[in-house]
Amino acid sequence: MSSLTGGSYPPSLDDDREKDRLVQTTKDWSIANGLAVRPAVEDPAGILAINAPVTLFPSPFPKSCFEEAKVIQASYNELYSRISQDEEFLGSLVQEVAGGDDFIAKLWNVHLKVKAEGYVQPLTLGLFRSDYMVHQDTENNNALQIKQVEFNTIASSFGGLSAQTSLLHKCLAQTEYPFLQSPISSLSLPENQSVQGLAAGLRAAYHAYGKSAISHPTCVIFLVQDGERNIFDQRHLEYAVSTPTESIPVFRLGFSQILSHTRIAPTPERQLLYTPPHNPSLSFEVAVAYLRAGYGPGDYPSPEAWEARYTVERSAAIACPSVLTQLAGMKKVQQVLATPGFSVLSKFVPDKAQHDALWKTFTNIYPLDRSAAGMDARSLAQDPVECQKYVMKPQREGGGNNFYRSAIPEQLKVIPEDHWGSFILMELITPPPLANTILRAGKLEQGGVICELGVYGTCLWDRNNGKVLHNEEAGYLLRTKGNQSEEGGVAAGYGCMDSVALV
Ligand code: ADP
Ligand code: MG
Ligand code: MG
Repeated sequence: MSSLTGGSYPPSLDDDREKDRLVQTTKDWSIANGLAVRPAVEDPAGILAINAPVTLFPSPFPKSCFEEAKVIQASYNELYSRISQDEEFLGSLVQEVAGGDDFIAKLWNVHLKVKAEGYVQPLTLGLFRSDYMVHQDTENNNALQIKQVEFNTIASSFGGLSAQTSLLHKCLAQTEYPFLQSPISSLSLPENQSVQGLAAGLRAAYHAYGKSAISHPTCVIFLVQDGERNIFDQRHLEYAVSTPTESIPVFRLGFSQILSHTRIAPTPERQLLYTPPHNPSLSFEVAVAYLRAGYGPGDYPSPEAWEARYTVERSAAIACPSVLTQLAGMKKVQQVLATPGFSVLSKFVPDKAQHDALWKTFTNIYPLDRSAAGMDARSLAQDPVECQKYVMKPQREGGGNNFYRSAIPEQLKVIPEDHWGSFILMELITPPPLANTILRAGKLEQGGVICELGVYGTCLWDRNNGKVLHNEEAGYLLRTKGNQSEEGGVAAGYGCMDSVALV
């Protein structure tokens, strides 16, 4: 295993008995340890779980890239906490995209409404995830460099399943790989603290909230989507919030149920009170409102849904994230940070070493507006040859929203030109070729794969004075997809869970 591209790792598994054994162990371990999702089939009793799609081997990943991504996470956390506090900067970018993006415009309006009456909670929690691919720099000795795909500021998922995937591969490395026909004797499999790290972030916010001034027990609520299939990922995190020495009540509440199960106390402090449906005589004060929903227009089918988001935002609960922090995750922000010349990045990160380390992880991203750079990018995007190097992204989360290569000029033909500015054009990152075997829905898929590393980060800050109260790197995610697929979201059905074998 001397290089990423050569060598025989991961093995191609030609022997059926070997395949069967690995598959059986993976299936059983996954269910036994909650590396699972709810199935898409009818399940009125709500009792079914199936294996999450997973690679049979941890994918080789360059150690230097992995370490760089982990080390830089604290800087990313701080950067995004600062962006979240710069209302003027965010407001100007919202203006640029809002014309073609009603969802972003409505989110901004929630912020304006709360600002008008005054925010009562100065603290914000970010459970972030910075996503990367490895880029092979052909102009620089084929050096391997991590390049950021995107930075997630809301509902960053898979921390729960990711820790389990690392454990699965560790188990296979002990019990199965040494006995293959081409035995694998040693792999460098780093610890993955994603569940513990994210839970520690939630606890930091819970403690910072303090005791109830109106004598209620305090709690954390997870605001979730109805019919969520990726529920075990969330449950792993939920169950890790309490520790052996401290019990913290955590409740799940459907985003569509916020108005019926919470209310704001009639006090100047505007505490958010939650009444569990199973026990209407109880009332908890919400210390932390953790959103695993609300990141896309689908969660806001009615004015009531916007009212619900407004209720959370104007309350005293520490929002994870606030509306401004959600907006800091716009792809437009990433594009502006990556603009060379007048460095917006250096405004937020004056420290040169930190600035340069972050800058190195950026790839070229262009606006599609009417600026000079935007007009150049428009030509690239409409050119049938040039467009092959790019992905075009709207201001959306959750996968399945982007346009790749030839789809870009086609899509531009159907979007009114006035709205092009609400998209960004990003250079495609092309990682070195790798192969692996994916177990999905009980079937094996063998072949070329592309890996995307995510590094979690937790950050708690005070918007009144800019003070950062907690800032940690919080474990990692490796998602892998067949190299024929453009999108890599596990939940969207394209990618699968993986872990890193450092090389
Ligand atoms: P989302 O917020 O919907 O997850 P992403 O920016 O992560 O949007 O894009 C979705 C997927 O598209 C990524 O997981 C990745 O597989 C692919 N992708 C996005 N940007 C790039 C890029 N610059 N190069 C290669 N693949 C990309
Ligand atoms: Mg995203
Ligand atoms: Mg993504």
